[in-house]
Amino acid sequence: MIPGDGIGPEIVEVVRAVVEATGAPIVWEEHAAGAAVFAAGDQSGVPEATIASLRRTGVALKGPLATPVGKGEKSANVTLRKLFETYANIRPVREMPGVATPFSGRGVDLVVVRENIEDLYAGIEHMQTPDVAQCLKLISRIGCERIVRTAFELAVAQNRGTVHCATKANIMKLTEGMVKETFETVAAEYPSIRAEHIIIDNLAHQLVRRPEQFDVIVTTNMNGDIISDLTSGLVGGLGFAGSANLGDDAAIFEAVHGSAPKYAGADRANPAALLLSAAMMLRHLDLLAEADRLEAGLDATLAAGVVTADVTATAGASPVGTRAFGQAVIDRLDAPPRPGARPQQAVRPPRITRLAPPARPRIRRQVGADVFIETTDTPTVLAERLQQLCRDTCYTLAMISNRGTVVWPPTGGATHCIDHFRGRFLITDQLEWTNHSLTRLLDEISGHYRWMHVERLEEIDGTPGFTAAQGQR
Ligand code: NAD
Repeated sequence: MIPGDGIGPEIVEVVRAVVEATGAPIVWEEHAAGAAVFAAGDQSGVPEATIASLRRTGVALKGPLATPVGKGEKSANVTLRKLFETYANIRPVREMPGVATPFSGRGVDLVVVRENIEDLYAGIEHMQTPDVAQCLKLISRIGCERIVRTAFELAVAQNRGTVHCATKANIMKLTEGMVKETFETVAAEYPSIRAEHIIIDNLAHQLVRRPEQFDVIVTTNMNGDIISDLTSGLVGGLGFAGSANLGDDAAIFEAVHGSAPKYAGADRANPAALLLSAAMMLRHLDLLAEADRLEAGLDATLAAGVVTADVTATAGASPVGTRAFGQAVIDRLDAPPRPGARPQQAVRPPRITRLAPPARPRIRRQVGADVFIETTDTPTVLAERLQQLCRDTCYTLAMISNRGTVVWPPTGGATHCIDHFRGRFLITDQLEWTNHSLTRLLDEISGHYRWMHVERLEEIDGTPGFTAAQGQR
């Protein structure tokens, strides 16, 4: 148990009391992470004792951790998730009794399954020039497979009928496209579950118009981060959004919300999100009856009009403090389950340690190289110089783009060029080409320009392993 920062210790204390009152036989180990650890000079925010405890037990109930803004420290939350490779972030929301929202009565009950390790959140960033920043979006096939399988396994465990996969594969054809492709392959193994792909922006639109149509939504890290805050808004806000971070070696249960520092110590915070997270933890520990009791107690409390101050309650309710809310839940643990509560099993992430061997041999053919160059030259001048510079190599200049849009050969467009160009060079003579040819090309370019990175262009089994530029013919 990690009490955390801000409102963390208060809500964790309440949740612990409720969990104990359900009869769950849990022996707690309390460990630190977050602000106090940063303040003590540990830049990781997660002490070794906390890591050792989690490695031993494999389970944590965690309060929110504050991330110092604008300093060198990385988020202790992200560190914990990454250290234990908890690749699946499960974020369910459902309509809560007694909590009034514009969507009340529509039966919102859905789960966002967010990839938790990869994507832009790998945080691999570089200044390309003093004025151009880059963030690398890495998506792996194994990362896609395990998150997609987790979504289908969750649908099975919770008796849900549909899985939507939300991507931006129409724009990012290789990265987001890999998620979509994996989804379509894995879906075939779950014929009883309806599988639909949806573009992420349309999902945002549909979630606000008709949220009740969604059941399970699987998506990438960045998409999932944003969409799951939206879905929590559908059911009454962050105070009702619980989450589980699942991996092969550890499961970390926490509220989606942060440390809400303005309410720290004020006995005002809503512990419901962490209570819902604790119910997931109990199911993870196969304490299914205890989890059901906890949720029944929470539902009955809200239905009786007992709410914390952040909640827009149905008429007649007056807010209570954090501790009084916890006691009200304990008093109602024997309440019957809410009508329509779905029977739930633990969600077990699939163990995938390596990919199945590819069905076809992986034939990789070198096609060329993209070289990224810093210059204030015009595209025409740059093209002339690059053509001269590659004259004695086995490459020829095929195209120049600026932030992904073709600027040479001229397209008739009106791109505002910044000092960050890509020259696309194609190999003219395959037989002559060696790795040394690429170094030679870079040497020639270095004589005149500063290049900041280079990407090989390869065909994998005859399919280009790179995308065309915008406007490329
Ligand atoms: P926040 O979630 O703490 O607060 C957003 C808003 O929601 C605030 O108005 C807050 O008062 C309210 N709120 C949140 N939880 C509530 C609850 N249980 N009861 C009542 N009101 C609640 O987000 P923030 O202000 O952006 O971040 C504050 C700190 O939390 C930052 O240091 C941030 O890095 C950290 N954070 C941690 C986590 C985590 O531990 N998983 C997640 C998000 C943010």
